[in-house]
Amino acid sequence: MLTKLLSKSNPFAPRTYGQLHRVTDRVYIFRNITNSSFVIGDRGVAVIDTQVNFPLAEILLKQIRTVTDKPILYAINTHYHWDHTNGNQLFKNLGATVISSRLTREFMATRYERQKDFLLGRGFEISHDPMFPEEVFEGERMLDLGDQPLRLFFAGKAESDDATAVWVEREKVLAAGDTVMTGSFPIFGQPVWDEGLEGTGQWEATIARLLTLKPIKIIPGHGPLAEQKDVDLLLRICGYFATEVRTRVDKGMSLNAILADMEPRLPKWITEMPVVWGNPRYAILRVWRSLMVHADSQSAQNAPDARREERRVLVHASDRATPQMEVFQRTGWQQFKPTAIPAPKKPLKDILDMAHEAGEGGDPGLRIALLARAAETRPNDPDAHAALADALIEISRSEDSVLEKGDFFSRAKAAWGRALEINPQHVPSLLGKGRYLTMMAYRGGDDPAMGLEFLEAARKLASQPKITAEIDFYTGMGHRRLGNEPRAKEFFKKSLSQNPGFMPATLALTP
Ligand SMILES: [Zn+2]
Repeated sequence: MLTKLLSKSNPFAPRTYGQLHRVTDRVYIFRNITNSSFVIGDRGVAVIDTQVNFPLAEILLKQIRTVTDKPILYAINTHYHWDHTNGNQLFKNLGATVISSRLTREFMATRYERQKDFLLGRGFEISHDPMFPEEVFEGERMLDLGDQPLRLFFAGKAESDDATAVWVEREKVLAAGDTVMTGSFPIFGQPVWDEGLEGTGQWEATIARLLTLKPIKIIPGHGPLAEQKDVDLLLRICGYFATEVRTRVDKGMSLNAILADMEPRLPKWITEMPVVWGNPRYAILRVWRSLMVHADSQSAQNAPDARREERRVLVHASDRATPQMEVFQRTGWQQFKPTAIPAPKKPLKDILDMAHEAGEGGDPGLRIALLARAAETRPNDPDAHAALADALIEISRSEDSVLEKGDFFSRAKAAWGRALEINPQHVPSLLGKGRYLTMMAYRGGDDPAMGLEFLEAARKLASQPKITAEIDFYTGMGHRRLGNEPRAKEFFKKSLSQNPGFMPATLALTP
């Protein structure tokens, strides 16, 4: 219900999930944050990529059923990332064979933890782990949907090390997975992982391989259906970052120097791109790291087979890394992250400031989201819980329905409860709850005794005049509720004497 209440602000607005677009009569793309597609043959259907979670896979299935009721024969994974594989089980339950390259299945097992953390950290709902593909291929594999041959083939390294593409020959359509992305600056991979855009031209080579098929339409892993110009743009971006970062690394520039040099002078054709999936900062970091890893592994004169292990060792053993690599190992890479979402380690005060600004900017949903996250990441900090409670109560005022206000109230009470459990003498929580109960009693004609008790408890502990002025004011409101006007006015005056600018007390004394 809370989400419905905040519909005026973006973060919780109601929305639709996924839209179906026809590519050809027998190929459709299901567009959501992550794309899926499906191909229809005489005998049945193949689904390519199965969505980020079960509910989305179910929506995908419903959409498929608006077009065809043929059996689903195959569910194909273009790579191991969970946002493309988490609906596998749903299609398996319908009798489909889940199929991927051998490497994809291997990565699903070995890169399990980091995938999970990655998606959870981005707010994806993950009810269970993805089912691993039951059938694997190496190199290439032909499937037949009935007068509709599909060619699955290992395309090479791109956004992940295990890019599979699906060539629908009859339709001249290529499902490219995340090797092609449109509609935004692309995701080039995580700067802390050794996968994605490198300065070595691998991704570009993979794309070039796909283009030899001369597809009329390309289904990207993210974004709208791709045309040649989208692929050209992607290649141009890959080339730009590979060259620009490499040139600077070769000059011996540090990472900080590279960022400072490159970011202000990014060409307009890059800065004008929408930033939905990835952004230029990540591209710089990704190429930079890949060049560092390559430099180190080359100097270690290792065999190609051993290189992955070498990298692993390199990343985990700081004594073997270059001083620059240590930046990532020592502190993670938070200091280089461009995102505005506060990291858990950001001081609470900074998050409170951001939440305050969000509130001032008319975005109560964001304000609550920020504070809820702050409380979640600081389960033992009473200040975080109290700040969340105060914001919930304040925002509840813009809600008319009493029933719906209740959602805010119960969540606020839980937050104060948690704060006082941690520290029974937490003044902001005592004041917050006292204020809430007193004002509820005042407005609804209820007994203010409980509220006054909380305010009394706060008074014994508070010392700042701004705080005691508030305590006195709400105590006065409690007495006003009880019809004791002399007592009430006494407290209002006391309040003003401590904080002459406190407007509510002035208003309370105005006849
Ligand atoms: Zn993806």
